[in-house]
Amino acid sequence: MIEGIGSDSNIYIFDDVIVDTGTGENMEYTMNGIKKAGLNLSDISLIVNTHCHFDHIGGNRYFDSQLAIHKEDAPALENGDNIATAAYMFGKSLEPAEVDFHLKEGDKIHNFEVIHTPGHTIGGICLYDGETLISGDTVFADGGFGRYDIGGDLNMLKESLERLAKLDVKYLLPGHGPAAHNGSEHINLSNRIIKTI
Ligand SMILES: [Zn+2]
Ligand SMILES: [Zn+2]
Repeated sequence: MIEGIGSDSNIYIFDDVIVDTGTGENMEYTMNGIKKAGLNLSDISLIVNTHCHFDHIGGNRYFDSQLAIHKEDAPALENGDNIATAAYMFGKSLEPAEVDFHLKEGDKIHNFEVIHTPGHTIGGICLYDGETLISGDTVFADGGFGRYDIGGDLNMLKESLERLAKLDVKYLLPGHGPAAHNGSEHINLSNRIIKTI
């Protein structure tokens, strides 16, 4: 885990895969984190973006890697869409990018399976390997969940949390804030709280 600083999302690395890349504003810090993980930039062969928001994808351009994102969120990157990616909220504008893999529910990335969890964005995903959930901005520790007013949908988010609450999650690795042990307890809390909206 490379903890996000500034507006950056958290970044996760497993094998040759990097999950999310932050805004790209703090690349020296990110590169140091990659080195601390014992890796070089050239060891990273695949970027997986949990969703299309700028704070998760802005660093993509610094990697010479293939790119994977859910098919519903891919057009935002392919079109360099400053609204859908929320780049405009960061005072940035994006170049269109080539997406190599249009992910869908059930796809495998090494040991992790793609779970389509729309709500924060329409093409948001989580990655789950049977005990660890990399959850993007769908669900955070301590009862948090993503906002649904930047290309999202509250009802979809509710359904996604309901689904995630059924998983057995040991380690919750969210897109922002701290990672958590006893992940299922955190997700269940989020699921209870979102139902009150
Ligand atoms: Zn985010
Ligand atoms: Zn987001």
